[in-house]
Amino acid sequence: MSSSGKEEVAVMESYPMNGGDGTFSYNKNSNFQRVATNVARETINEVIAEKLDIKQFSPALTTFQIADLGCSVGPNTFLAVQNIIEAVRRKYESQGLSSQLPDFQVLFNDHASNDFNTLFASLPSDRPYYAAGVPGSFHGRLFPKASLHFVHSSYALQWLCKVPKELVDPNSPAFNRGRVHYTSAPREVSDAYTSQFAKDMVTFLHARGEEIASGGIMVLVMPGIANGIPYSRVPSGVMFDLLGFSLMDMAKEGIISEAQVDSFNLPVYAPSPDEMTALVESNGCFSIERMDLAAPGSKIDVSFGGHACMLHLRAGMEGIISKHFGSEIIDDLFDRFLGKTNEFSDRLNSAYRQGSQLVAILKRK
Ligand code: SAH
Repeated sequence: MSSSGKEEVAVMESYPMNGGDGTFSYNKNSNFQRVATNVARETINEVIAEKLDIKQFSPALTTFQIADLGCSVGPNTFLAVQNIIEAVRRKYESQGLSSQLPDFQVLFNDHASNDFNTLFASLPSDRPYYAAGVPGSFHGRLFPKASLHFVHSSYALQWLCKVPKELVDPNSPAFNRGRVHYTSAPREVSDAYTSQFAKDMVTFLHARGEEIASGGIMVLVMPGIANGIPYSRVPSGVMFDLLGFSLMDMAKEGIISEAQVDSFNLPVYAPSPDEMTALVESNGCFSIERMDLAAPGSKIDVSFGGHACMLHLRAGMEGIISKHFGSEIIDDLFDRFLGKTNEFSDRLNSAYRQGSQLVAILKRK
């Protein structure tokens, strides 16, 4: 790892999803990500059928190694890896290589603070693979050199490894006063986010370039945005604005301070396909097999009302919000957020739902 890679990891923060399986747990509130996993499934099937060259790995391959980066606590990760394994098996069969089918090992990665206990306790009992947990940030090295054959990551890469410093510096033009994200913010704020994402992708792609065997495939699924659409037009942008409004209302009532809101920024980012293409090309280790925007949002319109938005946001963001503002504000905050989803239902309903999921399929050269 380069020295700059080490610095990134040293300052990296972790905000795990809500653990356990209670009302506000990620386990019970990751339907959106599950729909996204289903949307990605067909793409993954096609890619394995068309692009995975298993002969490149054989005859020596006795273990096919799969990593899921940012796996959280399940159940989505189990569905994703099961699908990958079934597709790889079909590939072996279609090539008349059933007798050479390797063992499968799945390496479940997330931050060390992730609730691995819940993950391990809910592993499917009839799983066709050997399971292991790998703790640590995917912005650094996690696996031995050239050891991975298939890497999957769904809805994790949007997490920046830190909030850019200038966002919380009152003397900087990028100071993000009264907002919690770059949604609806001045250009300087979104530029700071954009450059942090680019730095994160440099360390991420560098590490994966070393870990993935030649011919190995990496499927990255994450929030994305079409070129030219402002973030304030997409559903998650609307949600981040409403979260900011709810916090500012609480500040006006003196429950929290405005300074606390000013110094809080959600470290999440959604790139455009062009942006991602440029980052992958400058890394140079991977060919781009596909770079698409899919539209999972259009498949969940009916069930994704204000309450579902609230549960979705709470399961993913409660940790980071509690850490900054204290857990005592959480119930009040999300009640207010729910009120805002009613107040701003027009904006939510008219949000741009075409193409909010970036799917990047890369092959190690
Ligand atoms: N892939 C799952 C979980 C998505 S939630 C699904 O589709 O349902 C995002 C997960 O990414 C969280 O568990 C978070 O802890 C993890 N994550 C974010 N940044 C990470 C990093 N740098 N290294 C490892 N995991 C990370």
